Amino acid sequence: MNETLTESAMLPSAARTDLRRGRRIAALPLVLVACLAAWGCARAPEELVVYSARNEQLIKPLFDRYTAETGMPIRFVTDDAGPLIERLAAEGANSPADVLMTVDAGELWFAAQRGLLQPLDSAVLEQNIPEHLRDPEGRWFGLSVRARTIVYSTERVKPEELSTYEALAEPQWQGRLCLRTSKKVYNQSLVAMLIAQHGEERTEQIVRGWVQNLATDVFSSDNLLMEAIAAGQCDVGIVNTYYFGRMQRDNPDLPLRLFWPDQQGNGVHVNVSGAGVTAHAPRAEQARAFLEWLSSAEAQGQFAGANLEYPANPAVEPDERVAAWGAFKASPLNVAQAGELQADAVRLMDRAGYR
Ligand code: FE
Repeated sequence: MNETLTESAMLPSAARTDLRRGRRIAALPLVLVACLAAWGCARAPEELVVYSARNEQLIKPLFDRYTAETGMPIRFVTDDAGPLIERLAAEGANSPADVLMTVDAGELWFAAQRGLLQPLDSAVLEQNIPEHLRDPEGRWFGLSVRARTIVYSTERVKPEELSTYEALAEPQWQGRLCLRTSKKVYNQSLVAMLIAQHGEERTEQIVRGWVQNLATDVFSSDNLLMEAIAAGQCDVGIVNTYYFGRMQRDNPDLPLRLFWPDQQGNGVHVNVSGAGVTAHAPRAEQARAFLEWLSSAEAQGQFAGANLEYPANPAVEPDERVAAWGAFKASPLNVAQAGELQADAVRLMDRAGYR
């Protein structure tokens, strides 16, 4: 569910008119001088505007902290990434947004492809965020890491029986696998990363094998999938770790556990929630400073911990509940490939009958 704050988070229309006027003036230096001398210039308001696909409950405490520490107010709009990206594109140079925040690298890649994000030259972000968790061209940066891994029934599966994502396609798992719908971007990114690793032909075999092994129709959420495993409808599945963490927090006796696949090979599939500065950000400098702060040791624990994710900054330890699941080797592939190969992944899943 989205907490859409469209109304409360919108800038007053007068402010947006000021933005437009400010830009027109900036394009005409002579007029600018006259404007400064005669009336004082219309300026972008002293606040940052964030379009966020990350839920309000996760981001607002951090925004409030940033405002308390720096005096910079933050206005925000939350929605799914798709509508936010369309909105940015439609607003063009008149957009009040400074920052776009999403919960999947594929979405950030897509926004960058559409020219909606600007490259940042930031030694701080390059220092804090590992190379494979950010755009090679500096237009977006991962801020938390979400692992999409195997979850299994502790009642019907021994961890020794598990090995890789690929092995879930083997006949041993016939009628025992549960998957979330292929419409969810998390699975599109997972399959895109499998294509990056194995190529299309091998990946299609894997996905076909998964489909053959399904115990039941695909689920609309990771939570329903885990409930199905707990209820005995299936024995294994693939989920984002924070959904498992939330369920475990509410039910410590949950008969489910996480497994880290492919530890001798490419490692666990990871994705990021992250952000970039918009192409027409009225306050690009302040927006960069804000992203730098979000990547810092100071903010990373809270950014990741609020959702039981892993900090993107490797200098910061995960929340102790997350650390309790054990260390793992994560895929070193650049998460940008989740975006680059997403269209191929969608077509492949369709061919393979993964609905
Ligand atoms: Fe999620």
